Amino acid sequence: LRMISFDSVSKHYPNGTTAVDDLTLELPEGDLTVLVGSSGCGKTTTLRMINRMVDPSAGTVRVAGRDVRESDAAELRRNIGYVIQQSGLFPHRTVLDNVATVPLLLGWGRRKARSRAAELLERVGLDAGSGSRYPHQLSGGQQQRVGVARALAADPPVLLMDEPFGAVDPVVRTQLQDELLRLQRDLRKTVVFVTHDIDEAVRLGDRIAVFRTGGRLVQCAPPAQLLTR
Ligand code: ADP
Ligand code: ADP
Repeated sequence: LRMISFDSVSKHYPNGTTAVDDLTLELPEGDLTVLVGSSGCGKTTTLRMINRMVDPSAGTVRVAGRDVRESDAAELRRNIGYVIQQSGLFPHRTVLDNVATVPLLLGWGRRKARSRAAELLERVGLDAGSGSRYPHQLSGGQQQRVGVARALAADPPVLLMDEPFGAVDPVVRTQLQDELLRLQRDLRKTVVFVTHDIDEAVRLGDRIAVFRTGGRLVQCAPPAQLLTR
C-alpha cells in the first residue's frame, strides 16, 4: 500500500528557484523514510508538499491514494503529525497542556485529552513530573520529546519530522534516535524524516532517499543496498 507518493513533482518558487525537480517517489506505509542531502537540495520543500504547507508547481502528491489538492488542508493536517527542529511549543502552557491541545481541539473532553497526553509523555521517555512544567524549564532534548508527543497526540498515521534532533548535543541525539526507533517498532507510523546527516539517515531509515543540489532525487533504497553501490 502506497501511503505517500510523488508523481513527477516539481516546485519552483516565485523567485525562480527550483527547489524540487521532477520527483517521482513512493513511500510505503509503515516505513521510516529518510530524505537526506546537503542544505538547500529540496528536502524541506518535499516534506512540506505532503501536508500542503507548500503546493507543487507541477505533478501530483498523494496521501493514502488521494491527491492532496483534493483534500481539505485542515483535515489533512489532523492526519499528519509534524515535528520541527525548534519544538514550537506554546511557552505559556504546561507541557501536559501542550500535548493535550490537539485532542482538546478534536473534542475529546478535558479528562480524556489529559490522560492521553500523560500516556504520550511517558511513551517518549519523560517522567510524570514533566507534565506540570513549562517548556523553558526543560532541556532541548526534553523539549523535542514533547514535540514528538504532541505530534502523536491525535494518533496520525503519518509523521513528518524536519531535522527534529538537529539542535541537540550528540549524546542526547543518540538517545532520541534510539527512542524514535523503539517508538516506531510499536507504532509503525509512516514517517518521513529530513536530515543532512548521513549517519543519522543510515541509523534510522528503512529507506533512504538521497537528494542532490537542484532538488534531484539521486536514489532511494534501504541503507544496506545504498552502501554497497
Ligand atoms: P533543504 O531542506 O534541503 O535545505 P529547502 O527545501 O529548504 O532545502 O530549499 C530548497 C531550495 O529552495 C533552496 O535553494 C532554498 O533556498 C529555496 N527555498 C526554500 N524555500 C523558499 C521560498 N519560500 N522561497 C524561495 N526559495 C525558497
Ligand atoms: P530550514 O532549512 O531550517 O528548513 P527554511 O525552510 O526556513 O529553513 O529555509 C530553507 C532555505 O530556504 C534557506 O536557505 C532559506 O534561506 C530559504 N528560504 C526560506 N524562505 C525563503 C524565501 N521566502 N525566499 C527565499 N529563500 C527562502
